[in-house]
Amino acid sequence: MIADVLLEITSAWINKTFSYLIPNNLIIEKGMRVLVPFGNKKIEGFVMEIKPFTKQEYELKEVIESIDIEPVLNYELFNIGKYISNKYYCTLIKAYQTMLPAGYKAKSNNHINIKYISIIKLGKFENIKLNNSQQKIIDYLKDNGNTEKEKLQNISKSSVLTLLNKGLIIEEKVEKYRLTDKKIKEDKKVILTSEQKDIVNKIISSNDGFSPFLLHGVTGSGKTEIYLAVTEHIINKNQNIIILVPEISLTPQFIERFRNRFSDNIAVLHSGLSDGEKYDEWRRIKKGEVSIVIGARSAIFAPLKNIGLIIIDEEHSDTYKQENTPKYNAIDIAIYRAKYHNSKLILGSATPSIESYTRAKMNIYTLLELKNRVNAKLPKVELVDMKEEIKKGNKYFSNLFKENLNNCLDNNEQAIILLNRRGYTTTISCHECGFKITCPKCDIPLTYHKNGNYLLCHYCGYKTFKPNNCPSCNSKNINEYGLGTEKLEEIIQKEFKNAKIIRMDVDSTSKKGSHKKIVSSFQNKEYNVLIGTQMISKGLNFENVTFVGVLNADASLNIPDFRSAETTFCLLNQVAGRAGRGILDGKVIMQGFNMDHYSIICASMHDYQTFYKKEMQIRKRLNYPPYYNLCLIKTSCKDEILLQKENNNIIKYLQKNNDNYLVLGPSPARIPKLNNIYYYQILIKYKKLEQINNELKMLYEQFFNKKVKLDIDINPYHI
Ligand code: ADP
Ligand code: ZN
Ligand code: ZN
Repeated sequence: MIADVLLEITSAWINKTFSYLIPNNLIIEKGMRVLVPFGNKKIEGFVMEIKPFTKQEYELKEVIESIDIEPVLNYELFNIGKYISNKYYCTLIKAYQTMLPAGYKAKSNNHINIKYISIIKLGKFENIKLNNSQQKIIDYLKDNGNTEKEKLQNISKSSVLTLLNKGLIIEEKVEKYRLTDKKIKEDKKVILTSEQKDIVNKIISSNDGFSPFLLHGVTGSGKTEIYLAVTEHIINKNQNIIILVPEISLTPQFIERFRNRFSDNIAVLHSGLSDGEKYDEWRRIKKGEVSIVIGARSAIFAPLKNIGLIIIDEEHSDTYKQENTPKYNAIDIAIYRAKYHNSKLILGSATPSIESYTRAKMNIYTLLELKNRVNAKLPKVELVDMKEEIKKGNKYFSNLFKENLNNCLDNNEQAIILLNRRGYTTTISCHECGFKITCPKCDIPLTYHKNGNYLLCHYCGYKTFKPNNCPSCNSKNINEYGLGTEKLEEIIQKEFKNAKIIRMDVDSTSKKGSHKKIVSSFQNKEYNVLIGTQMISKGLNFENVTFVGVLNADASLNIPDFRSAETTFCLLNQVAGRAGRGILDGKVIMQGFNMDHYSIICASMHDYQTFYKKEMQIRKRLNYPPYYNLCLIKTSCKDEILLQKENNNIIKYLQKNNDNYLVLGPSPARIPKLNNIYYYQILIKYKKLEQINNELKMLYEQFFNKKVKLDIDINPYHI
């Protein structure tokens, strides 16, 4: 037999497979990984096809060995890879490598081993005299069943050895899963409200085919309780469930609630796990040992069989869209899989994306609405214009902000402060000549980090010391401008003496497990002020938080992106939703310089409907989604002249066929230079993908392996 193998190297060919003879002693199936000779190297690949041997013109080499006992790509995953490669314009090998965790990728230089431990069982029974510790070991095994060898060795190492030699006990090696954090607390069973019950019933009584729902419920309205109830129902039908959450910072409390109810019937997949832990979780899923998979974006590829339900929480979140090639959207994959399994799909959010809400209005999704918070009122939100406050001499905090934060702290309650900007200050510039210190590779202002006294490029990671003199005019008068979370921590500490502050942003959470630590120490009330970037805006549920303050609430409106109003509305709505989740009422103060924008006003009134209507008018006028779909063609090259030339060729080519779509550009990308590489972009607005499919395919193949790199982003989340 012959195996057609898709090799791990991507650079030279698009989706070409190579044929190898399968030696008689190897059992090889489609979807397995194999090691094959290639040139003078040995590399890995996926078996795409097995076919009978026919007479060949040239001599075939033999497969060296199979890496798997079972295929890593089952029939469904095999086809999902093809779907991704077609829809998102990437090579097939890239699609598979993206779908699989490190331990299952085709990678000849990197393998993860299964971890084993020794277990001791009772062996044959013989009536011989045992000493004290030997008897103790036998008794222990009789009482407790099979036991880890290490534990028994604590009683007596030599006795374990003697008993083994006599055959009275037997040693066995079993797999040991690396992820051990499985503390379970008591499940807080609630009685669903009639509003919740109605929704659960609608979901579980839907027909057996693919049925997608959009669950729109304000923050704290009890969506998670609905997920739990529906999950329980699906498990009772012996079907399985995938649950996606947007970010790792959300997962501790969310996972905890599922774990409390379903104990270790859950596998967890996210980027915070080590490769070994991920490998083990993946294997538990493959072996059918769990019914529920919870994870971030890539968990949508979990090798779970017989799926009855997929839940996507905070469905509007941009983290469901992968930023690197393949730029897939996990919601698309969820729809693909839910259709394949004829299963239910729940997209849940307090602020659904404009696209999803439109689909619900068109009855593509069934719209389910939770209008009220379960056990509290929505917090009162007040907006403050900082232009006025500055006149009063308030540089950072308005009077209202100070009053409310002080009240909150005096009452022994907790506060959350959002500032969506990490670092100490935003820029460093010279007072004499106006020189701004920028990244030499990206031309973007560097951010000052006081802790460590360095300047950092937030785009490429370039790091340098803060100079004492202006690099341009040598003046000593260089100053820091703007405000980041690090500096905010300092100022709050100075102005609010009772504040015990903990900060959560990219810099304070780089260590494994630090998110969880911050969340639980704030939950345990070791701190009373949580400062953070957008990381703290979602999902977190602290009953004692009564005050939420937002600084520079209008900052995200300045980003040149068609979604910036939506992003702002979501962010403000979400963060406001952190206040008053318990018995105590919540209060929210948002301050900024441009506070009369509809996204801010609607967020302050918790008014999704009005926001949706206003936003749709603008989207219609400017031909943006959901009225048109977008495709972003990004090109990049070290040579800017060559890049411009190629871009002009692309535009000419696209405009020739331009009856069905609109083309904009080329223009320098939002980040025009990164790491010494120039970026340009062309935007296509189209109605149906079929109308631009041929053109995109043509471009993709033509630019494969050229000096100018071309990258296609279908339905980009941001532009
Ligand atoms: P969401 O997911 O919409 O933010 P949650 O499901 O987290 O809302 O619910 C918010 C809070 O209300 C949680 O503390 C939850 O335990 C509680 N809760 C939800 N439903 C009920 C109910 N029917 N009875 C009592 N408490 C509830
Ligand atoms: Zn200067
Ligand atoms: Zn840079």
